[in-house]
Amino acid sequence: MASQLTDAFARKFFYLRLSITDVCNFRCNYCLPDGYKPHGVANKSFLNVDEIRRVTRAFAALGTEKVRLTGGEPSLRRDFPEIIAAVRENAAIRQLAVTTNGYRLARDVQQWRDAGLTAVNVSVDSLDARQFHAITGQDKFRQVMDGIDATFAAGFTKVKVNTVLMRGVNSHELETFLAWIKPRPIQLRFIELMETGDGGELFRKYHISGTTIRDQLLQRGWVRQLSGRSDGPAQVFCHPDYEGEIGLIMPYEKDFCATCNRLRVSSVGNLHLCLFGEGGISLRDLLADDAQGEALEARISSALAQKKQTHFLHDGHTGITQNLSWIGG
Ligand code: SAM
Ligand code: SF4
Repeated sequence: MASQLTDAFARKFFYLRLSITDVCNFRCNYCLPDGYKPHGVANKSFLNVDEIRRVTRAFAALGTEKVRLTGGEPSLRRDFPEIIAAVRENAAIRQLAVTTNGYRLARDVQQWRDAGLTAVNVSVDSLDARQFHAITGQDKFRQVMDGIDATFAAGFTKVKVNTVLMRGVNSHELETFLAWIKPRPIQLRFIELMETGDGGELFRKYHISGTTIRDQLLQRGWVRQLSGRSDGPAQVFCHPDYEGEIGLIMPYEKDFCATCNRLRVSSVGNLHLCLFGEGGISLRDLLADDAQGEALEARISSALAQKKQTHFLHDGHTGITQNLSWIGG
């Protein structure tokens, strides 16, 4: 391993979240309530397979061992299996995950696994089909559930499910979620609704702290687990009677940023040091040729010196993040 990415606060970065498209076919009310619209940039092209291979190779040389493909909806890329295979060409990248809305799982997940995918996160905000439809704008609850079954059938032994916690929308569904994961090895992760540039009103209406769930879990005998090195910032809870686990992702909790271990690259090749940061450092001019690998690694390493200690969400600063579809949540 050439070196290890470390920032000014001694945080080490093992984990890259790579967006491969901004496009999405869902209209989640907290993300793309009016559906996907190109950002006024005509013919914007997303990173191609070779560029994806090069950027992940550079991160691997800098110590990255886990990559997550996200979007938009990553499975909308027709070359998704080729992308998976290209990332896995780097032996150093031992974990390759996808975050998906799940609508293509039933059809394609076996193919993704065969190409080298090692983990699947599916977004499911409600176990009530009508509520699911109301939140996502898509009547695809059954299809997504079949997709989760197909993921287990394809040989994945565990599936992570992301649920954005919203007051009065799904915050009362804890019982239903717990019953669902009791016999299933699903890690269900409640994510606190985050404020984005587009979503201020929704945030004020629906944001609820994950501590309400944490209190209920502790009362019912759930126990917090220790987290592993390349894990995300989820607090994970388990219970002897349950196959599944509950994760809580609480970006508004004090010290959330202290364990930050991830960097982001957008679908057009900009490096983002924080989901809620400003700007972005373009890497694309260094992705055209294999010979640029060292220069690319140098740019990534030196950019890290600018990473700030924490986000400023508490002060209402959402950075340039209008919604999470373009940088991948
Ligand atoms: N389309 C895929 C999906 O929905 O899983 C991947 C991209 S999506 C932007 C990644 C994750 O971000 C999803 O789990 C989604 O629920 C979450 N997300 C989007 N907007 C959010 C917000 N404002 N607050 C919290 N989570 C959000
Ligand atoms: Fe699409 Fe995911 Fe955003 Fe929902 S959260 S609109 S599925 S990108």
